[in-house]
Amino acid sequence: MPSSTIDRRGFLKAAGAAGVATVAAGCDYNAPVPIGKVVPWLEDPVVPYENVLPYVVQDPQLVPGNAVHFATRCDECPAGCGVVARNREGRIVHLEGNPHDPVGGGNLCAMGTAGIQATYSPDRFKGPLKAGAEVSWDDAIQQLGAAIKGAAGAVAWVGRYRSAATGALIAQAVQAFGGRVLMWEPLGLDALRAAVKATFGRDAIPSWHLDDAHTVLSFGADFTTTWLSPNEQSRGWANSRDPKHGGFVSRTVVVAPRLGNSGVLADLHLAPKPGTEVDVAMALARLVADRKGYRGPAGRLLSGVDPDAAASSAGISAERLGEVADWLAAAPSVVIPGGPADSIDPTALATAVLVLNEVCGNIGRTVRFGDEHLVDGHATAGDVVALLDDCRNGKVKVLFIDDLDLVYSLPESMDVQGALARVDHLVLLTNEPGDTTIDKAWVLPPGTTLENWGDGNVRAGVYTLQQQAMRPLYATRSQGDVLLALARAAGVAAPAAQPAGADAAPA
Ligand code: SF4
Repeated sequence: MPSSTIDRRGFLKAAGAAGVATVAAGCDYNAPVPIGKVVPWLEDPVVPYENVLPYVVQDPQLVPGNAVHFATRCDECPAGCGVVARNREGRIVHLEGNPHDPVGGGNLCAMGTAGIQATYSPDRFKGPLKAGAEVSWDDAIQQLGAAIKGAAGAVAWVGRYRSAATGALIAQAVQAFGGRVLMWEPLGLDALRAAVKATFGRDAIPSWHLDDAHTVLSFGADFTTTWLSPNEQSRGWANSRDPKHGGFVSRTVVVAPRLGNSGVLADLHLAPKPGTEVDVAMALARLVADRKGYRGPAGRLLSGVDPDAAASSAGISAERLGEVADWLAAAPSVVIPGGPADSIDPTALATAVLVLNEVCGNIGRTVRFGDEHLVDGHATAGDVVALLDDCRNGKVKVLFIDDLDLVYSLPESMDVQGALARVDHLVLLTNEPGDTTIDKAWVLPPGTTLENWGDGNVRAGVYTLQQQAMRPLYATRSQGDVLLALARAAGVAAPAAQPAGADAAPA
């Protein structure tokens, strides 16, 4: 082996010089490089070269190494659970459930946990756009304000559920423009709402409590991932399986032709022929009524029900059905309806499930109205279809779409794109592109839940404040700020100002 030409002293000198050169290159304050630019000699497109600069004025809330926590809310689904967001050096790095929140109780579901990704998505719009081209906020507000003025009331708003002060601000502003507001969720609960109205005469959706149920029976709803209040229901289901909670371990039974995310938790899965779920629910109600000697108001609905015939047409063993009825009759239970796509007639299935809960004695115990989900003012899919017809007929000149991808959510046969193309000014309040981001649209990015103030009142007696947990990453404006500015630009009486702070307060 040839002897080395470098001695130990020479090696240490060279290593020291290389280290100094590397540090100097990494902290090169004198040669500003646009953020995100790749330095060719690094040849690493994943790690961009950025300037490292000290704060000129240190934000008193930012102490390097110390996290600041903000109590706020999750807006990934209408349940509106309370969350605690951890801020490190000005960026939210983690979300967890707020233990003081009566809905989530300190937990966060998978969807809520992933909600942080909405803020850091690389696809986010960085500022307002007009037909795909950048436009300043001032120009956008002036032009749209003039359009609203000229629309003479032909203005409409369709968007996700907003409640409390946020919902009131939207309603007042759009009303001041002479327009109408539809708050609508594609995964809404129209069928269950109609069933509750038909059976209990109330326009509300009761809350489902799984904690004390010895048998959890679902007709297909994904109650731990998407249906109604998944975080709360997951916690309740986990409690029902924990002998330390109630001194028992619940059984989970799923009656559905397919296994969804929650269905895989089942101890017993019965797969009825598609379309026979209503018959199975009514058969179970009849069997439980017979076992319990039920004499209540639902009794007259059950007199003509033949459980054996129902089991046979569903392709389920009558003995199995009887076994499930034994469990339901013996101890407190909870019966969950199907989701929007779990039956050919979801309203009939929801009605049958409410009847079964009534016969089991679950109403007021595990299915409650005291802390029900509020649905006042929520639009139905039929209302949205009527709005699209108005768009098609030229009756809507300015249409705001708040965080909804209508083209993606509604069937292609409805030609949503064709209807939207007839609107003079389509205004999308969205942070990311979607199927509804058609060429002519205005895009006014509102920023994410973590960047904005807001509030919610989705359950009777529960108000949740959404506080700004970090400064907006981009040139965004919240829905409320946009509406207030548009009201001024259109020369109409603006609604009372809502909180819209630049400073976030710690929890
Ligand atoms: S149920 Fe999940 S997604 Fe919905 S608000 Fe609660 S944590 Fe967020």
